[in-house]
Amino acid sequence: MHLVPLPALTDNYIWLLHDDEGNAIVVDPGETAVVEQALAVRKLQLRAILLTHHHPDHIGGVAGLLARHAVPVYAPVDERIVETTMPVHDGDAIKLAAPDIRLEVIAIPGHTLSHVAYAGGGLLLCGDTLFSLGCGRLFEGTPAQMLASLDRLATLPKQTMVCGGHEYTAANGRFARTVEPDNAALQARLKEVAELRAHGRPTLPVSLGSELACNPFLRVDSAEVADWCQRQHGVGRNRVARFAALRGAKDVFRG
Ligand code: ZN
Ligand code: FE
Repeated sequence: MHLVPLPALTDNYIWLLHDDEGNAIVVDPGETAVVEQALAVRKLQLRAILLTHHHPDHIGGVAGLLARHAVPVYAPVDERIVETTMPVHDGDAIKLAAPDIRLEVIAIPGHTLSHVAYAGGGLLLCGDTLFSLGCGRLFEGTPAQMLASLDRLATLPKQTMVCGGHEYTAANGRFARTVEPDNAALQARLKEVAELRAHGRPTLPVSLGSELACNPFLRVDSAEVADWCQRQHGVGRNRVARFAALRGAKDVFRG
């Protein structure tokens, strides 16, 4: 199986998965042309579209793709996604024959209320919930919901490759560094990120293990992040309050 991040729009990634027989799926096609070009260049046949949430930068290319490819559209139940043909629910398993992959649906409310992730084949396709060194903004859900969603993703195997929906890593890293300036794993990751971006390369996918070591939003239970929350925001004992303080600080961070 091959995994290709297709840069789209300003800073989105459309995730393309394909086998050696030319069968492909795409996740969160925010635009049509980028996908059509990738399919043509690689001589691939589109077999399915998967969507994580309803935002236009994740679904904007679906109608254009459907005009040329008669494929199923897997998406969470949400009337704001009109192209859905295969509504998915928490705990569902999607089994595709070509490419041969089995993905588990995980409901992860927070960024939006109907947001889902797809996990399988060593991958986590998580839209705007988990980014490298950051997490999505809370447009619809509560901090408690988002934290519970991240907690679920954090239980996946550490070698799982995290495929988030945006190239936000460098900016996220500037905030993460202010929270944990002494985190050696974070410092190493920031070096790697700077190097990748200097060469115009994606910082994703990244292993979940790396994120658990570096991403402050997955580290609200660590002593370092708890200390920062206490010092900066006076919140200590309650992990949801720590998460809310972190997310609120990131919302207004200018670095
Ligand atoms: Zn979004
Ligand atoms: Fe997005």
